[in-house]
Amino acid sequence: MHNRFYAFLIILISIVGFNSLAIAKDSKNYQDGPYLIAEKPNQLTQYDVIDGALFIDRYRGGLGKVSHFEHSPSDNYQGVKKVAAISDIHGQFQIFKQLLQRNGIIDSKLNWQWGTGHLVITGDIFDRGDTVTEALWLVFKLEQQAKAAGGKLHYLLGNHEYMVLRGNEKYLHDKYHHTLDLMNMDLKTLFNHQTTLGQWLRSKSTVIKINDSVFMHGGIHQDFLDLNLTLEQTNEIFRSTIGQSRDTLKSQPITKVLYGRTGPIWYRGFFKDDLSASDVDKVLNSLQVKRIVVGHTSQQQLETPFDGRVIAIDTSIKRGVKGEILIINRQEDGTDVLIRGKMNGEQSPLLNK
Ligand code: ZN
Repeated sequence: MHNRFYAFLIILISIVGFNSLAIAKDSKNYQDGPYLIAEKPNQLTQYDVIDGALFIDRYRGGLGKVSHFEHSPSDNYQGVKKVAAISDIHGQFQIFKQLLQRNGIIDSKLNWQWGTGHLVITGDIFDRGDTVTEALWLVFKLEQQAKAAGGKLHYLLGNHEYMVLRGNEKYLHDKYHHTLDLMNMDLKTLFNHQTTLGQWLRSKSTVIKINDSVFMHGGIHQDFLDLNLTLEQTNEIFRSTIGQSRDTLKSQPITKVLYGRTGPIWYRGFFKDDLSASDVDKVLNSLQVKRIVVGHTSQQQLETPFDGRVIAIDTSIKRGVKGEILIINRQEDGTDVLIRGKMNGEQSPLLNK
């Protein structure tokens, strides 16, 4: 009896000991934050993880009401001279940064250098990698710098943004589980409407049009077109339903489509369904565009299926090795020159349309 008890105790100690050792080892030199949360009216709390330890600072004043958190009244932008587009960063800050720097979007000090140009991020900054927070704050800053320069940064939300905002922790890197443990908080609370990043994310669009291109994370299926929504209506419905449970979203006919497998944040049919060029033309005609730019379905490099009617820009940055950025230059005659931007800054024509 005694022996059994001791054996049990030894097993228990070794399990507990092993676990705490593993956490301590992982947590060493690990940095995260800041996270800004209005936990009380008139008080903003800042959480930082520095060398694996949590630091908390409290400030007077709440989140405030800044124009930065207000969404654009229109989701259609015309007369834009140059557009850059990148997708599915998935917590790979270094690759994201290098692609922007080497292709002239930002300078060596991470400041906006793209002038009056637009930068589109078609979703999925979150999940998988361990430098999500760094990427979010860079985008947060660049958005303001772009606006001041007469340009614009569009951070469109992908399925992973919507998953995180409803508290789905399935694809979180271990690092963020440690952060949540240290903060004694769940993911949904970390990005709820009482937080700076959460409120900012809730101002974003999901589908936009710039010149002759429409941009979104997944793709467009007939189910979406059958809803007969304008881009502004679509984005407003997404904004007003952020964070709702899957069951609630499925119970309403419109959100069932928007958040479903054929909706703009999940659809993969351009790469899977047996579509013809004329099927894709139907979609382009109803949206009155020449091309659809999408992320979500991973490629080795930028791809131009259906003779450039679709531009696939998820270039597998998530693997942490490399990626590409799309640049669209508007010509005087109203046509676009599409360019492939590489990690070393090398640029080559993708398509002339
Ligand atoms: Zn995705």
